[in-house]
Amino acid sequence: MNAISMNLVTLFYLVASVCFIQALKGLSSPSTARIGNAFGMAGMGIAVVTTVALMLKLQGNLGQGGGSGFGLVVLGVVVGGAIGAYAAKKVEMTKMPELVAAMHSLIGLAAVCIAIAAVSEPWAFNIATRDGALPFGNRLELFIGTFVGAVTFSGSVIAFGKLSGKYKFRLFQGAPVRFGGQHILNLVLAIAIVVLGLMFCFADGVAPAWTPFVVMAALAFVLGVLIIIPIGGADMPVVVSMLNSYSGWAAAGIGFSLNNSMLIIAGSLVGSSGAILSYIMCKAMNRSFFNVILGGFGGEAVADDGGAKEQRPVKSGSAEDAAFILQNAESVIIVPGYGLAVARAQHTVKELVDKLTEHGVTVRYAIHPVAGRMPGHMNVLLAEAEVPYDQVAEMEDINGDFGQTDVVLILGANDVVNPAAKDPKSPIAGMPILEAYRAKSIIVNKRSMASGYAGLDNDLFYQPNTMMVFGDAKKVIESMVKAVE
Ligand code: NDP
Repeated sequence: MNAISMNLVTLFYLVASVCFIQALKGLSSPSTARIGNAFGMAGMGIAVVTTVALMLKLQGNLGQGGGSGFGLVVLGVVVGGAIGAYAAKKVEMTKMPELVAAMHSLIGLAAVCIAIAAVSEPWAFNIATRDGALPFGNRLELFIGTFVGAVTFSGSVIAFGKLSGKYKFRLFQGAPVRFGGQHILNLVLAIAIVVLGLMFCFADGVAPAWTPFVVMAALAFVLGVLIIIPIGGADMPVVVSMLNSYSGWAAAGIGFSLNNSMLIIAGSLVGSSGAILSYIMCKAMNRSFFNVILGGFGGEAVADDGGAKEQRPVKSGSAEDAAFILQNAESVIIVPGYGLAVARAQHTVKELVDKLTEHGVTVRYAIHPVAGRMPGHMNVLLAEAEVPYDQVAEMEDINGDFGQTDVVLILGANDVVNPAAKDPKSPIAGMPILEAYRAKSIIVNKRSMASGYAGLDNDLFYQPNTMMVFGDAKKVIESMVKAVE
């Protein structure tokens, strides 16, 4: 391979890496998210084309004519691209964590497949020694990549099943699956995997030590299942973000063994951003990472089934009553939650806010970092409805204003405004909340008195200054719009 073409490959990989970094930067704010996405697509396009060109070059160097396998790559791009485009078009925002889990499972599986290919034909990857063996360093990297990739694959499949809630299979149920000695079994499996991995790395001879490698990979698949099944469905989004991080590290590990700087950089970006996201999610729920992994309120929330709580009197009113109160307020804060996303009422809310603004009411939206079912869920919804960004405030910026606000309109949100978080004995104690309870008047729209994700009753609904407006968010807000008109 001549130096110039490798320089070009390095240059294109560098350009793609810069695009990926710009993509992450762009995605950090709703106003720049579109451009961030465009950078991501451009980076991935450059990376794929460069890698195919590199593959053809390597094949040419090996005297394989530089063309074999090209058809397969094109087929993969066409089939994979078509499935990806279809899934992206069809998926509902509330099903996004499921889609992400499905995609991570593929990244994990891809890491395992690449590792198997590299172990069986190291010379095709340009990593073999002169006698055709795999150097120790590459074996170690391939072992780690396979281990993490296999855990990511099977763990993501279980996470996908739990999130979709559509399958009868016991392991795909939201309720945690626990049995005696589970943690010990996981520990034993992890130790066995490390021992087998080291046997693979230290094996003598040119031929790869297939037996420890295959058994290690099989045990890693089992470990992935065992790690995820005891976690309740409610904690799955955090788990998906954690698996996202794993899939990045698996890719980076494989990148080291293949000497592919693109894989190392892209994998590290995914690995670290996934880890940061998991941290942010845990912090916003005031949970520790280990509390999530070892099973916390997620399980109980699912088991709880969202049923009705103790019978206490609540004040309820109609959409028209709510519209009257809103219209006569000077300042309104809207708190959107998961129910708004389910009802797909974001466009109707925008209509309501436009009408209220015409009446001289100052309206803002308050966004909790874990409102909905994924970080940024509410920002995406509101951006979809083209809500101006200056009307949208993050929790820490708006929490101080609730006390001076005339009306807080809570639409399909529950846990993120639950004052139980202030009670040290509550399961959500310490979770930062939107302090809606401090407003002069509170209007809550949801369909019933059922609990939210954490499975807890919400004292806010029983406050004397709270009015419940029962019904599907979209229908209720439509009636409010009509009433304001
Ligand atoms: P919640 O899940 O607490 O509450 C949503 C409420 O919406 C429910 O009480 C439900 O009540 C109501 N609802 C459902 N459908 C409709 C509808 N069609 N119309 C009107 N209301 C509806 O949501 P929040 O957004 O307040 O909180 C998010 C929760 O998810 C938190 O516990 C958070 O920790 C958790 N979580 C979030 C993650 C994230 O990244 N965003 C990740 C992991 C977990 P009813 O059935 O009576 O209508």
